[in-house]
Amino acid sequence: MPRLVLSEISKRYDDVVALDNVSFEVQDGELLVLVGPSGCGKSTTLRLIAGLESLQAGTIAIDGTDITATAPKHRDIAMVFQNYALYPHMTVRQNLGFGLKMKKMSSDEIELRVKETAEALDIESLLDRKPGQLSGGQKQRVAVGRAMIRKPAVFLFDEPLSNLDAKLRVTLRNELTRLHHRLAATILYVTHDQIEALTLGDRIAVMKDGQIQQLGTPQQVYNEPANTFVASFIGNPPMNLVPPSIFQLETDASLVGIRPEHLIISDQKPGSITGTISARQNTGADSFLTGEFKECEITVRASADSVLNVGDTIELIPNPENLHFFNQTGVRISNV
Ligand code: ADP
Repeated sequence: MPRLVLSEISKRYDDVVALDNVSFEVQDGELLVLVGPSGCGKSTTLRLIAGLESLQAGTIAIDGTDITATAPKHRDIAMVFQNYALYPHMTVRQNLGFGLKMKKMSSDEIELRVKETAEALDIESLLDRKPGQLSGGQKQRVAVGRAMIRKPAVFLFDEPLSNLDAKLRVTLRNELTRLHHRLAATILYVTHDQIEALTLGDRIAVMKDGQIQQLGTPQQVYNEPANTFVASFIGNPPMNLVPPSIFQLETDASLVGIRPEHLIISDQKPGSITGTISARQNTGADSFLTGEFKECEITVRASADSVLNVGDTIELIPNPENLHFFNQTGVRISNV
């Protein structure tokens, strides 16, 4: 059952079209990630759902009820922000309980919910501290707790991990995944980080210029990108996009795409192409070699102990099963 439904949403700021006829649904218990480059309309989408801004066209519904004109505080939604937005003068306990106190919940009930929430997030030992005495990761846990404690119908997460260092981001990402499954919470999660989108999302909506380019599971978006934008935005290093003539392919397509892991480094195999390595990037587990092939750059994944280096000749052959074909407007075409 869809919990949150956006239908044909449009939003303009003067002459800037922030959202252009956007529709999608978040299912009950689903974590849907909105991902896209800066300025594509992610935060605007969240602000419209939270009721912090008004829209020019379209409707928003939660559990089948149209909330487009409902005041923010009467929408059954909790938001978690990038900058935590904790009250600095209150303890963690007070920060957690504040929203419930405003709702006139009894202090016994509040204490029970604070305990339950603190346990779920493993922050019981922090309850008497103030935000100034917490690390970034701890603050973010408290911010999640403050949303959780209200038991909202829908959680909105606005780049919640982007202020944290890389290692902590991975830890909290795993914690969020576990929490999401345990609570069966319905979450709309915004990020510009495609790795975060691929690892967290039950489904991913890839946005550009106020429009959804593709909505699907991480596998669909990665393995069957709808267009060249999605193909190059999802995946790191990005998919190689080259004219089909490079691989001597007979096709009507304008561009052919192949991911770095789907190229084989070959030695004089028929059909292989020859180039010169211009860059090598080591990631620890792998190395990525970029070569110049006629007028194109192509990146291939090699093993970490590959002896190939800048200046060497390299021969590549694509795995034909993993080729992607795009027409002149960049849209995926399924057959060769
Ligand atoms: P994202 O969150 O994906 O970075 P935003 O939703 O913040 O993107 O912005 C979408 C577009 O709307 C951008 O072009 C941005 O400059 C514009 N925009 C956002 N907020 C405002 C505002 N308050 N006034 C004018 N333009 C805005």
